[in-house]
Amino acid sequence: VRRNTERPIGSWRLRAGRSGAAAVDAALLLGALAAAGVLGLGALGTSMGGAISERGAGRSEWRAGSSVAGPVHAVLGVEAGTATALLRLAPPSFTAELADAGRAGSAGRAAASLEGALGVVPWKHVAEADLGALVGGVEARVLARVDADLAAAVGPGRTFENPGRTFENTVRPLVDALHEAEYASNVLAHLDSVLGSKKFSKGNAKAQQRLERLRARVLERGDVVDALTEVHRGLESAGLDSPERALAEKLLAEAGYPVHGRGLSAAERTWARELRAELGKLDRTYERNQTRAYKAFRVHVRDRADLKGLSAADLREARRNAKRAGKEGYLFEYDSAGTDDALTSLRSAETRKLFWEALHRVAADGASDNRPVVERMLALRQSLAELYGYRSYADYAVSERGPARRMLGTADEAEEFVDEMLARVRPLAERELDELRAHRRSVEGTAEMQPWDRAYWSARLYEKRFGDLDESKYLRLDRVLEGAFAVAERLLGVRLERADLPTWHGDVLSFRATDADGRYLGQVQMDLLERRGKHPGSWQADIYVGEGAAPSHVVVNSDVSPTGGRVEKTALNIDEAASIFHEVGHALHVLVTEAGLRDFGGTNVAQDFAEFPSQLLENWVWDEGALALFARHTRTGKPMPRKMAATLADSRRFGAALDYYDTLVEAKVDLGVHRHYRRGEDAPSSAADAESFAAEIVRRHALLGPGEHETFLTDFEHIFAGGYAAGYHGYSWGEVLEADAFERFREAGVFDEALGRELRGVLAQGATVPARDLHRRLVDREPSPDALLRRLGLEERPRRGRGK
Ligand SMILES: [Zn+2]
Repeated sequence: VRRNTERPIGSWRLRAGRSGAAAVDAALLLGALAAAGVLGLGALGTSMGGAISERGAGRSEWRAGSSVAGPVHAVLGVEAGTATALLRLAPPSFTAELADAGRAGSAGRAAASLEGALGVVPWKHVAEADLGALVGGVEARVLARVDADLAAAVGPGRTFENPGRTFENTVRPLVDALHEAEYASNVLAHLDSVLGSKKFSKGNAKAQQRLERLRARVLERGDVVDALTEVHRGLESAGLDSPERALAEKLLAEAGYPVHGRGLSAAERTWARELRAELGKLDRTYERNQTRAYKAFRVHVRDRADLKGLSAADLREARRNAKRAGKEGYLFEYDSAGTDDALTSLRSAETRKLFWEALHRVAADGASDNRPVVERMLALRQSLAELYGYRSYADYAVSERGPARRMLGTADEAEEFVDEMLARVRPLAERELDELRAHRRSVEGTAEMQPWDRAYWSARLYEKRFGDLDESKYLRLDRVLEGAFAVAERLLGVRLERADLPTWHGDVLSFRATDADGRYLGQVQMDLLERRGKHPGSWQADIYVGEGAAPSHVVVNSDVSPTGGRVEKTALNIDEAASIFHEVGHALHVLVTEAGLRDFGGTNVAQDFAEFPSQLLENWVWDEGALALFARHTRTGKPMPRKMAATLADSRRFGAALDYYDTLVEAKVDLGVHRHYRRGEDAPSSAADAESFAAEIVRRHALLGPGEHETFLTDFEHIFAGGYAAGYHGYSWGEVLEADAFERFREAGVFDEALGRELRGVLAQGATVPARDLHRRLVDREPSPDALLRRLGLEERPRRGRGK
C-alpha cells in the first residue's frame, strides 16, 4: 500500500512546470532560449568549448559521459583562468537533414550524430546559485528569437515571392522559441522533485514563475496575436483534427482569443493573465504545503503493546526517532517504514485508526493548511472558465486542454462515463468488501468494517489465499528492467541498453534506446529508489521530446523501498514491478514518437488517452509468458515456477474491483468540485466549503467512510498541482481502453509481432491522429468496458462478435 497514493493509482505523471491554472497542458507552458542563431550552441556535434562561447572565450573543462559524442544541449563550463561557472540550458537542436538521416535508419553514423546532438544534461552542475542567471539567459534568448522570427517570417504585404504568414514560417518558429523555456523548466522541475533540497526548491519556484511569465509575455504581444490570427485564417479550411490548426487555436486561446469559446476584451485578457499567474502561484503553494506537511507528520505511540503486528525493524526505527525527539515510546514519521506498514499490519484497530486519521488528513491544519488554497484555486478556476464563456472549469478544461481533443470531449460525457461505471462496478466492489467482512467474522467474530480496517483485513485475506507467494525473490530490480526491456524489444522493436551518462544521484540508471535497425531513439534515466526528501510516488517526465525522427530524453522515477546493496539488486514485489512497467510504458510512448510537432508527440496526447500505453504495458508483468522471460530466483537463477506465475495472475484480481471503484469515487470528487461546487446546482448539498462538498460525494458513493476528520482535497496533488484537474477520470477510462485492447493481445499471443507493430504505429502518431481513431485501429470498434468488467469479476458471458 502506498500512502501517498492510497488512491489505488500506483503512478502519476509529473507534468513539468505544472500549471494548475491554465487549461493548457502544463508541459507546454515552458520553453525558451537561444538567441537566434546561437540556439543549439552552434553546429551539431561541435565541441563544448565552442558551445559555451556565449560569454566570450570560455573553454569547457567539464566532460560529459564519455560514451556521448558531443554533448550540446546543456552546457556548463569554467571560464578559462577564472572560477566563474557558465551555465546555460538549451534544448538540443536537430537539422531537418539530421532528423531525416535518423529516419532513414541503418547508418550508424546517423545514430552517432543524433546521439551527439541530443547531448546530455550536466545534472550535478545545475546549482541553485545559478538559477537566476540561467533563467535570465533563457528570457533574453526567447524574446530575441521571437523578435527575429516575426521580423524574418514575412515582410509587409503579400507578393508572389512572399507567401504571407504560414504555419511553417510563423507558428513553428514561435513554438520552437517557447520550447526553450519549456526545456529549462523540465530540467529544473525534475531536479527539484528528486534532489530534496529546500534551497533548490525555493530557487526553482522562482525560476518556474519567471518562465511561465515569459510565455505569457510572448503570447500577449499584439504582433504575435496578429501573426497567429493570420495563420489561423489560412488554416480554417483544414479539418478540425488538423494538428496545425489545433495548435494555432490553442495558442490563440491562451493569448485570450479563443476560436471556439468567447473572445476577450483587452481588459479581460489582462484579467485572464492575472488569474493564470495567481493560479500558478497557488499550485506551487499547494505543493509546498504538502511537502511541509509530510515533514511535520508524526504518529506517536507510547506502548509497544499497541504496535503488535509491525516488524522488529519498523519498531527499531520508530524507537530511534522517538529518542532523537526526546520522546518516550515510538515515533513514526511520514517516511518511516512503519508508517508504510501500519494499515496493513497493525493488529490493534485503535492504533490503525490513529494512523489512518493522520494519513487522511495531510496538509489540512496549521501552517501547511491547504484548505484555503483549495478554496481559492477552485474559485479562480471557475472565474477563468466563466471569463471564456464556460459554465464550469470542468467544461473549460475538457474542451480546451491540450492539442488533442479528448476522447470524452465534454464534461457531460466524462461524468456519464464515471456514473455508469460507478453503477456497474459497485456490486463487484461490494462483493469484495463482503468477503473482507466475512473473513473478519471468521477470525474475530465481528463483521465490522471501518475505513481503517479495510487494508488490514484485505492483507489478511490476501495472506490466506496467497500467503505462500513470495515473488520478490524472483523480481530483482535488474530482472524487472530486463523484462520491461524485453517486452519493449519484442513488441515495439525498441532496444534499451545501459549507457554512461551524467546523473543527479548515484542510484540513477541510464539507458540508450535504439530501433531494431540501429536508429537512435534517445535516452532514459531512471531514479527508482525511495530517498529522503525525494518526491514520493512513481512518475515519468519529459526532458526533451524529439520531433519527427529526432530522439528524446525522458526520466522515470519511483519510490521502491531499498532492500540494501546496489540499486540493481533491490527486491521488488509485483506491484512495484507493475509500477515500473507502467512508467516504462510512458517512456516508450515518447521514444517511439514520430509526430512532426513536439506538442503532439509522445505523451502529449488527449489526457484521457495518455494513460493507455502505460496501463497496457502493465499487463505483461502479470502475464505468465512474460514472467518466464525475466523472473528468476535471486540466488539460484531458476525461473519462477509456473504455479507461482499462475497464482500471481490470480492475485491481480484480488481487491481489483474495490480499487477501481475508489478511483471512480475520486474521479467523481474531481468532476464534482470542478463542475458543480461553485454553481450550487445538482449539488449533493448546499455545502459550506469544498471539503464538505467532497465529503458529501464520498458519503453518497464510497462503500466506506468518510472518516470524521478526513480531508479529500488537501493531499490530492493530481488535481491541484499535477495537471489532472477535471481529468482524473482519465485513469479509469485508460483502464477501459487498456483492458479492451489487451484482449486482442491475449487472443493473438502477447508477443504477436504484427500486433506489436500495430501498437507501435499507434503510439508513434502521438496526437496527430485523434485518440478515438487510434484506439479503433487496435480494436476495430468503439471502446467497450466489457473486458475490464470481466477482469474486475463480472461473470463471463459469451463474447460479443467483434465486427469488422
Ligand atoms: Zn501513468
